[in-house]
Amino acid sequence: MFSQLFDAVDLGLVVLDKDLKVYKWNRWMELHSRISAEEITGKQLFDYFPTLNNPGFLQTFKFVLNFGNFYFFSQKLHHYLFPFDLEISLNSSFDRMQQSCNMGLLREEGTSERFVYIAIKDVTETAIYEQKLLEMNMKDGLTGIYNRRYLENRLQEEYDRSLRSRKPLSLIMFDIDYFKKINDTYGHQCGDHILQSISADVSSCVRKTDIVARYGGEEFCCLLFESPLAGAMRVAEQLKDTVADKTYYYSDESIRVTISGGVAELAVTKETVSELVARADNALYQAKRTGRNKIVPAS
Ligand code: GH3
Ligand code: MG
Ligand code: MG
Repeated sequence: MFSQLFDAVDLGLVVLDKDLKVYKWNRWMELHSRISAEEITGKQLFDYFPTLNNPGFLQTFKFVLNFGNFYFFSQKLHHYLFPFDLEISLNSSFDRMQQSCNMGLLREEGTSERFVYIAIKDVTETAIYEQKLLEMNMKDGLTGIYNRRYLENRLQEEYDRSLRSRKPLSLIMFDIDYFKKINDTYGHQCGDHILQSISADVSSCVRKTDIVARYGGEEFCCLLFESPLAGAMRVAEQLKDTVADKTYYYSDESIRVTISGGVAELAVTKETVSELVARADNALYQAKRTGRNKIVPAS
């Protein structure tokens, strides 16, 4: 009866002896590993799953076996113990089944024999859901680049890091010129399309590790790491030229756009994050005031 239950649960169940040989392997494990209980029983677990043969897993196993500890392998830390393929393509960044696992001690009644069980739970769907929520929380829905909240959090973190490491940190703020006119002339959807295109163009102009974010309606920020003012100015000029030299298309319309920007390098020890943002914003305002389609360094 109990062996029926062992195979009926929607959970992987593995029992190992003290030498890490498989003692029990339930139906769920057979399905996902495509290894039958008949085949694997009595065999070394590591012969079938060499990735488990690592100091961390071994130490945990020994603690459980010798001291009766109970151990939890969280999906957030490990992603999985057993590398199982995903059943169907779930359109996520995961390439393996995500698992939460427990490990504990079993004693055979009437003998001194000890076994270790591992219970494996498939948490892929929850993990994907969490990942999407996390993404939604930090990305802008229209353009797919980071949102203002994310930028502000990162700015504070990078500010602290920069104070410690004394490495330069620069901020570019830019704003599309006469954007209202684009909306008014070609419609709001065309405006949206331009916002998306410019976001993609800007992202391809900076390093992968730099942060590009939508700060407001048609206002963007780039956070450049280990970049002093002169370097950030070059990047900003390149962004400005890339946009100005390009023709954007929407329906049958061809549209030319320009952007204006302000650039500020963090003055380490002298200013706060909001002062840095204010200086970049002020430089942007100067660029607007003095003709647009230009980049101004903050004083
Ligand atoms: P300036 O050169 O001084 O920056 O002029 P501007 O017209 O670009 O600036 P203004 O602030 O007057 O107008 C910004 C416009 O951006 C107004 C607003 O309707 C538009 N906008 C903001 N968010 C969105 C959006 O998500 N989609 C579209 N299509 N338009 C947006
Ligand atoms: Mg504008
Ligand atoms: Mg604006």
